[in-house]
Amino acid sequence: MTTEKSVRHILSLSGGKDSTALAIYMRDRVPNMEYIFHDTGKELPDTLDYIERLESYLGTRVVRTTTRETFDDVLRTKGGMLPSNKRRWCTELLKLKPFEVYVGDESCINYVGIRADEDRVGYVSHKPNIKAVFPFREDGIDYEGVVRILDDAGLGLPPYTDWGRTRSGCFFCFYQQKIEWVRLKQHYPDLFEEAKAYEKPNRVNGQLFYWGDEPLEDLERPERMAEIEENWRKVQERKRARRPNRPLVSVLAGLDLDDGPRNGCLICQL
Ligand code: SF4
Repeated sequence: MTTEKSVRHILSLSGGKDSTALAIYMRDRVPNMEYIFHDTGKELPDTLDYIERLESYLGTRVVRTTTRETFDDVLRTKGGMLPSNKRRWCTELLKLKPFEVYVGDESCINYVGIRADEDRVGYVSHKPNIKAVFPFREDGIDYEGVVRILDDAGLGLPPYTDWGRTRSGCFFCFYQQKIEWVRLKQHYPDLFEEAKAYEKPNRVNGQLFYWGDEPLEDLERPERMAEIEENWRKVQERKRARRPNRPLVSVLAGLDLDDGPRNGCLICQL
């Protein structure tokens, strides 16, 4: 792999397992790598801890980029319209733009942690000075390879997987499954409350948006949470029956980390 001085080498971390494993994998291969993390200001404490642990392992600082306008500032300009799958302004303004601003006009190689067992494209900047490369794909590193890299480095999987969350990114990310909302409430009730507080009519125009198809006020009712837990458990049983050779690590964690294309935002959750 070339490391010419005139070209910058940049690895953008999400706080997820794949980009973290890639940082570990590239540490000795590209000594002048710049590691960056775009902090939306709404990250889970677990993600921030994981990034700090990675810094210790790498022996170098991960640059935190932020935007002048916070999530709440942008939300105000949008009249309280929460982001969603169809209105994903958050990724563009809080993740993609800071990346392009950070890179500027200099030539850069952008290292992306898409694995060999994944069939997806990922974020590729359209700026001509940014060239994306996919070392895991090139070197045949799959899900199990990523887990091995993380274990060998002593980091393991991101800490939020311990309580059943599958994704990095904002604690209120609309991509999370209902079971992940339930677990957010159980493990970070204050963050759940903060997410719920966004589901109020906008003070200026009265518009009301929800993070998902069900208000969090409804989802948090004990009987509804029990129902979500039960549905999730049945789905897991069916999946286990269909795939008896599922990797042990994901069985133990009760997670779908190894499932095919993930429903989510690649740049936030890689
Ligand atoms: S994690 Fe989710 S809510 Fe946060 S910026 Fe990414 S897509 Fe938007």
